Amino acid sequence: RAPLLEVSDLHVEFRTQYGVAKAINGANFWLSAGETLAILGESGCGKSVTAQAIMGILDTPPGYVTQGQIKYRGVDLLKLSENERRKVRANRIAMIFQDALSALNPVYTVGFQLGEVFRKHRGMSRSAAKQRAIELLDQVKIPAARTRVDDYPHQFSGGMRQRVMIAMALALDPEVLIADEPTTALDVTVQAQIMGLLADLQRERNMGLILITHDMGVVADVADRISVMYAGRVVEEAPVYDIYSRPAHPYTRALLESIPRLDMKGQQLSVIRGLPPVLTDVPKGCAFNPRCAYARDACRQDPAPPVYQVSQQPHRTARCHFFREVIGE
Ligand code: SF4
Ligand code: MG
Repeated sequence: RAPLLEVSDLHVEFRTQYGVAKAINGANFWLSAGETLAILGESGCGKSVTAQAIMGILDTPPGYVTQGQIKYRGVDLLKLSENERRKVRANRIAMIFQDALSALNPVYTVGFQLGEVFRKHRGMSRSAAKQRAIELLDQVKIPAARTRVDDYPHQFSGGMRQRVMIAMALALDPEVLIADEPTTALDVTVQAQIMGLLADLQRERNMGLILITHDMGVVADVADRISVMYAGRVVEEAPVYDIYSRPAHPYTRALLESIPRLDMKGQQLSVIRGLPPVLTDVPKGCAFNPRCAYARDACRQDPAPPVYQVSQQPHRTARCHFFREVIGE
C-alpha cells in the first residue's frame, strides 16, 4: 500500500535567543490509509513540532522547515502555495489539540461554531448546517445532541468539550486526523473513553490517525504502529505488539518501564534519569547517550547512529548501535 502521508528527512529549526534550536533533525515516518500511528516521546522531543510542520502552522516562535519532504498522496506539501496548503488543511488533514477550551470560542454556542464550518466550506444554509452539527455531536457520542447543540463551551465538561473538538475536526471528513496529546488534560477514566471514541471513529471512517502522546500506556490498545521520537529524530519504529514485547531502543525500553501499572500500585516506578537535551545543545553522537544504560564510547562519537533495519517482516527500525543487545534481553 502506498502511504497516504510520508515524512522524509524532515528538519525543522527555530531561531531562539540562545541560538538555533534543531527541533526536528531528520525525522522519517509514514501513515497508510486507515491506519493508526502513535508518535511517542517526552515533551520537547519534537512530536508537536512535527505535527505543526505537517499542518503548515509552524509560526510561533519562528520555525522553519530547512530540509525534507512531507508528501500527502505523493504531493510534497512543502512545495504548495499557502492557499493550496490551506485547502489541504481544511479538507484533508485535520488536527485536534490538547487544550479544547482555548480552541473553542466562549461567546458562541458549539452548534454555531460547528455550523460555521459547513456554511463556510460547504455553502450550507443555517438550518442545514445546524442539522449537520447535531449529527456530528451525535457521532462523537454527546448525549442529547439536539439540545446540547445550543449550549456554550463552558457548559460542557472537559471530556465533552474534547468530543466537540473531535466533531469539529471531523466536520469536513478528513482522510488524516492528527491528535496532539488529546487526553492529557483529562482524568484517567475520561482519557480511556476519548481514546476509545477516536479508535471507533478511525475504524468507521477508515481514516489515517496520528496519535501524539508522551504516555505509552494510553496507545497500546489503539495504535497499529509506533514511532518513538527523541531529540527531533525517530529513534524506533515498529508495529505496536513488537514495541511492547521486545523494544529495540533503550529509550523505548525506558519509556515502557515508566508506564504506571495497576498491579504495582504504590510501588516506585522507574523513571528515566535526566532530561531530554536542550535543542540548542544536543549531545554529540547518540543524543540519548547521557541517559542511556547501554552507552559506551562509540555512542559519544559523531555521527549519530543511523537508521538500522531491525527486521524486514515486520518492518522495524532503530537508531541504536547496540539494538541487537537491547532486543535480545
Ligand atoms: Fe544508548 Fe548507544 Fe544505543 Fe544511543 S546508540 S541508545 S547511547 S546504546
Ligand atoms: Mg507537545
